[in-house]
Amino acid sequence: MKYDIIVVGTGFASTFFLKKYLEKNPGKTVLVLERGRLFPLMERLKIRKGDAATSEKVNEAYRKLFINQHHEKFWKFSPDFGGSSNCWWACTPRFMPSDFKMKTLYGIEQDWPIDYDVLDPYYEEAEDIMSISGPKETPFPRKKDYPLPPHLFAPPDKILHEKYGTQYISQPTARASRAIKGRNQCVASSTCTECPVNAKFTIENSLMSVYENPAVTLEYNAQVYRLTTTDKAATKIHYAKDNIELEAEADYYILGANPFFNINILLNSGDKNPLTGVGFGEQLGIQALIDLKDMSNAGGSTWVNANGYMLYEGDFRKDYAGCLIETNNATYIRPEEGKWLDIMSFRLLFEDLPQKGNYITTSNNKFIPEAVFNAGRSQYALKAFEEAKKKLPGILSCLPVEQIRYLYPHQNEGHIIGGARMGTSEENSVVDKYMVHHQYRNVLVLGASSYTTYSPSNPTLTLCALSLHTADKLF
Ligand SMILES: Cc1cc2nc3c(=O)[nH]c(=O)nc-3n(C[C@H](O)[C@H](O)[C@H](O)COP(=O)(O)OP(=O)(O)OC[C@H]3O[C@@H](n4cnc5c(N)ncnc54)[C@H](O)[C@@H]3O)c2cc1C
Repeated sequence: MKYDIIVVGTGFASTFFLKKYLEKNPGKTVLVLERGRLFPLMERLKIRKGDAATSEKVNEAYRKLFINQHHEKFWKFSPDFGGSSNCWWACTPRFMPSDFKMKTLYGIEQDWPIDYDVLDPYYEEAEDIMSISGPKETPFPRKKDYPLPPHLFAPPDKILHEKYGTQYISQPTARASRAIKGRNQCVASSTCTECPVNAKFTIENSLMSVYENPAVTLEYNAQVYRLTTTDKAATKIHYAKDNIELEAEADYYILGANPFFNINILLNSGDKNPLTGVGFGEQLGIQALIDLKDMSNAGGSTWVNANGYMLYEGDFRKDYAGCLIETNNATYIRPEEGKWLDIMSFRLLFEDLPQKGNYITTSNNKFIPEAVFNAGRSQYALKAFEEAKKKLPGILSCLPVEQIRYLYPHQNEGHIIGGARMGTSEENSVVDKYMVHHQYRNVLVLGASSYTTYSPSNPTLTLCALSLHTADKLF
């Protein structure tokens, strides 16, 4: 049987695409190939013993491979039904309009071939689907209120919001501030990876209906590794299921397997574009602990309570990276009698640059790519951290700060970006503005692999909006 479309993966990129595609094309036939299985939250909670999250345990096979090659870095993702919606933390700010125009505004890298205004309605749609909680006013333009009210500020957040207005807001998040269908209200347990009250959006709790549609055939344990291609198109998809080699045919092939596996499939299929796989990476995350004099940080109603934009935008981005501040309401305890909660915790998220020395390539295992991270972090990101250290005391002068301590950089941010960047031609990119491969015109490469530049903001809301945009405009 030949399908209308074959979709690889059941994470955010694939599911948001498929939701829209099915709404617009009832009756079309869809085959979904998912490497993993359905591993429900309630089962994952049973085996979580307080050490590593279960997503990390099931990820072991992949993680080991990446660790062995690059001791200093591992990459985190969940290889089952729903992808990393199972383990994400559900921080969902939009990108700023400037993130799409880094060349025009700052002379950095390339502009995206799509801009904020085009994505605006799809951002709104993705925010509705995920029932985002967020404030009335944001630093990025929005046309209507978020579906759910914002989470509560803790006392120092209130002071920062008073001083900085829309530059310091309650974080837009897919951790529900009110109970809604399929999800409970966030209780700020700070264990978001396997949320014990099911407050965060996941594919499992909110979008199972996409896979229950009779037009969809979903195959579990189906690991895709290659497409058969001609000069201009793909004609077959190849996968292994229960150790049996299988193939299938469709008019369109939709890759939503995250940057590593999207690139692995493309390279195994004969993609010779020298940019394929190149420039992948992630943002640089650094934790700053801020001791406060006689001020408790208790009272926020979710895990990442607020976002600060004071280090995000400005002419300095010609020289060093923008930074999004995430204020954690996590259980950082100050080990001093009577001052236990007099501490704030910032996660500083710096954008990084796509660099040639960081690339994804194939390995001798056809299912698993090699992730080469030789260039490591760019000076653009590292300089921004040094500058942030100089600026933060001034920014926080409205608070009774005793000292700021910086912890070592996080080993991973979980935000895997790039490798099949979006652009205007094969000379500067791998896919076009609809994430259609420049050469194989019936192959779509969804997800953050298509990002032209990284942005300091968390990537997932934007990749969902891009999937909705593509499904709306192309089908
Ligand atoms: C711990 C953690 C916390 C995070 N927190 C946030 C956050 O707060 N905010 C944010 O914006 N982002 C966050 N992220 C990042 C976010 O999870 C990713 O951006 C997002 O999951 C990417 O969506 P995707 O659909 O492209 O890929 P994935 O979610 O990785 O889904 C890929 C899907 O493809 C399947 N697949 C892979 N390879 C194959 C193959 N060869 N054959 C068949 N199927 C395959 C997988 O099993 C999976 O179903 C976090 C990530 C982690 C790990």
